Amino acid sequence: MTATLDDLPVRPDLRGQKPYGAPQAPLPVALNVNENTHPIPPEVADDIADAVAKSISGLNRYPDREFTELREAFARYLGHGLNPDQIWAANGSNEVLQHLLQAFAGPGRRAFGFAPTYSMYSLLVRGVGSEWVSGERGPRFEITPESAARQVAEADPDVVFLCAPNNPTGTPLSLDVIEAVYQASRGIVIVDEAYFEFAPASADSALTLLPGRERLVVSRTMSKAFAFAGARVGYLAADPAVIDALRLVRLPYHLSALTQAAATAALGHSDAMLRMVDEIVEQRDRISATLDALGYDPYPSWSNFVLFGGVTDPQDTWRRLYDRGVLVRDIGIPGHLRVSAGTAEETTAFLDALAAIRDE
Ligand code: PMP
Repeated sequence: MTATLDDLPVRPDLRGQKPYGAPQAPLPVALNVNENTHPIPPEVADDIADAVAKSISGLNRYPDREFTELREAFARYLGHGLNPDQIWAANGSNEVLQHLLQAFAGPGRRAFGFAPTYSMYSLLVRGVGSEWVSGERGPRFEITPESAARQVAEADPDVVFLCAPNNPTGTPLSLDVIEAVYQASRGIVIVDEAYFEFAPASADSALTLLPGRERLVVSRTMSKAFAFAGARVGYLAADPAVIDALRLVRLPYHLSALTQAAATAALGHSDAMLRMVDEIVEQRDRISATLDALGYDPYPSWSNFVLFGGVTDPQDTWRRLYDRGVLVRDIGIPGHLRVSAGTAEETTAFLDALAAIRDE
């Protein structure tokens, strides 16, 4: 006989909750979790392997708790005059966000985001015993500074999540909205730029807004543009005081020596690691154009994925794509599906499968 959660003294606020559950299926064309489907270039892989191999002889000791070299490498990569004391990192930006919530949310506090947005925000918020409040977007999932400021002032949250560009819609977010939300709030404002590298080259990062805004945090990840999802490395930039707060909640030595070595080596090759971004953006735009021609309704995207409407029965279309070896994401918005831009071949496989299904 096996027990169920109901048989355990689990926290009452976790009863009835569902874990994060994007299906992981070994399909030939997996375009469901916005990974970078291009492998790491071989010359970079060799360098990472060397760095990791060198770190092995020191694995009897705890790693550098302050991951000093890695923070220096992130500061260099981000530019914008950032110093290493403004950088934090953890095992994926999910953990970075969790650290922020542990320090600035917690029981009796409230976090806010504009739905639909990245599904982990509400899960992480509930995980630290805080309340999640959803705000609303306007037509085409866009947000205006006026509406954003009004909603944030009304909710009066301790933490605000702004996903820029937004997952799962791909919608860009202008700096005006960030400034308006910052002004309208007293809490920490997190701008999640997980997909920023896929935005047009002319796009301004929220990093430009950091000076003089000690409650503003800009979160990034190596999982997407850097093709490093399996290594689990996310990071953020903020005022050094924010970093001090995060030291209070992180586990000691949370970034393993292997992770630090691998990430530092990868950042030493950021040009090569990011070489595929242009190619992915090209495939993303091809997806949008082709979906449009097929009669679907793709949304403008500044990320490595496309949300599209006009899907009569998303579950049925998802299943038929699955049966053809193509994994996309049903994110639960009626009439919509989301697909990540893959290699040219993967993208063709998706578009051909969808066209075939439509004609069935
Ligand atoms: N933020 C957003 C908006 C995401 O879409 C994701 C991953 N899908 C993450 C953060 C977390 O990524 P990771 O933990 O791999 O850095």
